Amino acid sequence: MKQVDYIIVGQGLAGTLLAHFLQDGGKSVFLIDAGEQGTATKVAAGIINPITGRRYVKSWKVDTLIPFAKETYRSLEVLLGISIFHPRPIIRTLFNVREENDWLARTADPAYAPYMQDVADLENYQDHSIKAFSYGELKHSAQVDIGLLAKTYRLLFKEKDQLLEEKFDYEKIDFEGGKIRYGNMEAEKLIFCEGAQAVSNPFFNYLPFGGAKGEVLIVRIKETHFEKILKHRVFIVPLTDGTYWIGSSYNWKFEHSQPTEDGRQFLAARLEEVLKVPFEIVEHRAAVRPTVKDRRPFLGSHPEWPQLYIFNGLGTKGASLGPYWAKQMARHLLLDVPLDKEVDIQRFA
Ligand SMILES: Cc1cc2nc3c(=O)[nH]c(=O)nc-3n(C[C@H](O)[C@H](O)[C@H](O)COP(=O)(O)OP(=O)(O)OC[C@H]3O[C@@H](n4cnc5c(N)ncnc54)[C@H](O)[C@@H]3O)c2cc1C
Repeated sequence: MKQVDYIIVGQGLAGTLLAHFLQDGGKSVFLIDAGEQGTATKVAAGIINPITGRRYVKSWKVDTLIPFAKETYRSLEVLLGISIFHPRPIIRTLFNVREENDWLARTADPAYAPYMQDVADLENYQDHSIKAFSYGELKHSAQVDIGLLAKTYRLLFKEKDQLLEEKFDYEKIDFEGGKIRYGNMEAEKLIFCEGAQAVSNPFFNYLPFGGAKGEVLIVRIKETHFEKILKHRVFIVPLTDGTYWIGSSYNWKFEHSQPTEDGRQFLAARLEEVLKVPFEIVEHRAAVRPTVKDRRPFLGSHPEWPQLYIFNGLGTKGASLGPYWAKQMARHLLLDVPLDKEVDIQRFA
């Protein structure tokens, strides 16, 4: 029987960050992950966006989340020898006078000023995209290669014999003697980090999961080079290999999580409306975002099985929410620090 402190089910962004902080706290972890393609962490752009929505509202806890996320990703870059945190301003298209006025009103608010540029600099978009009514520009935004982070950490876990590549079988879990047993593994606690697939988890499917499918295109854009992110009908996000991430659609009703012809056409048509130059589609991906009804992550232990935990619900903002809440989850597990009531699943008790 192999003994570990924690078993983590799911090695997307949530499971990877949690494993990282638990190991950092001196504990042993073992991960079980099915290794599927088409999961949120593998498909996402990883945009960190401080101000979102039609009303240009600051994202929840953004003043705390962004600096912590930056610090975490920077330290992971050093640990793993990779480059994942790419600061990139976001240019936001303003479509009419009302939007421009709302934007300007926000820039006058001292709480928003640090995130907003007075005048947008369109760089190469100036010549290569269709001119819109007006533009705003955001600072302290970034693109994080969360897919590369999970992939690189996975190699490390495999090398150290800490990862089992299989679909977790809930029937095989055993609670003998207050511990968790699964196959030849024995652990003090088990944490489910299954993303959108948690809807099939018999222990936690009582939680109000949502699930929003998104499709994205990876494209090459001829004769140009953009450094910034543009939000104009779709997001155009420069990737480090010279391609661009174009996304994404939002579907709350879907039959499967695979890419569809409709999704491809929708995104390609949007991009055609924005660019003056031709582009070539090199990939088409889809995944389901682990959204939740009240838009707050799910952290905490099962009401009847205190050895079972969940860390989920990173929704549409895993890149910014992940590090802070993974750290809080780790402190709760390691030091019994109470969870923030807003994220504790006790709110559904
Ligand atoms: C199209 C799209 C665009 C997005 N864009 C952004 C963005 O720009 N910025 C941002 O911050 N966020 C974005 N997101 C959201 C972000 O991807 C998620 O918040 C984050 O990746 C969720 O990570 P997770 O680990 O909870 O879930 P996942 O990435 O789904 O990982 C769960 C893992 O668990 C495994 N698993 C699940 N169940 C089992 C089981 N029973 N047994 C074994 N393994 C299991 C899965 O195979 C997977 O590897 C986007 C998501 C999508 C789909």
